[in-house]
Amino acid sequence: MLIGHYGASLLVRRVDPKLRVSAIFVAAQWMDIVWCVLVLVGLEHLRIVPGITASNGLDLYFMPYSHSLPAAAIWGVVALAACRYGFRMEWKTAVLFAAIVSAHWVLDLVVHRRDLVVVSGVAKAGWGLWNHALLAFLLESALLVWGIGLVLRQSEAMSIVGLYGISVLGLAMAGIQVLVFFGPVHMTARQTVSWALFGYVAFAVIALLLETQRSEGRAGRRTGQRKPVPLLKLR
Ligand SMILES: [Zn+2]
Repeated sequence: MLIGHYGASLLVRRVDPKLRVSAIFVAAQWMDIVWCVLVLVGLEHLRIVPGITASNGLDLYFMPYSHSLPAAAIWGVVALAACRYGFRMEWKTAVLFAAIVSAHWVLDLVVHRRDLVVVSGVAKAGWGLWNHALLAFLLESALLVWGIGLVLRQSEAMSIVGLYGISVLGLAMAGIQVLVFFGPVHMTARQTVSWALFGYVAFAVIALLLETQRSEGRAGRRTGQRKPVPLLKLR
């Protein structure tokens, strides 16, 4: 799954509108970011087999450290510890980010071939929606539109970039998914993970820049985000 990860993860802002979009983007794709790095250093492996699914040629035959069910649980715990003790977030925020990290596996389960390890050496899972390219694309696009719509309702634009930026980013992401699913894209395994890693980082950095162009709006203010700091404290 590509853009669906972003869309579904943005919906967690329903629980806490203070969650930053850029941080959600990193958490949503954390397991894929790990996967790209591990493939590049030779610890995980894939090969490209054109036609192996209707939407892409990914034969993901060895990715136990990034994409197994135990790994998803462990990465969730790592995210929880990093958010709570590294970034000193509140427990609730840290738990939400951990949930976003681990939920990546569940979302992948819907679209992947049976290549996601459940129990090492025993069982692999994957419901194979990638074999229905249009359906998979519509599902992922719907999730992204839903997620971005929520962000737009929860925050207010402070500039023209803030007004249209995130929608344009969403369109660009959907365009990339169209190219991957339906376009004449032929890449080696190494090129695939290199471009994927570049994309994940670029999307997060762009989100980071766009965040500065929107205020938290009514939803954020309701939860007390960025309360005006009194200049003088009267006793
Ligand atoms: Zn993944």
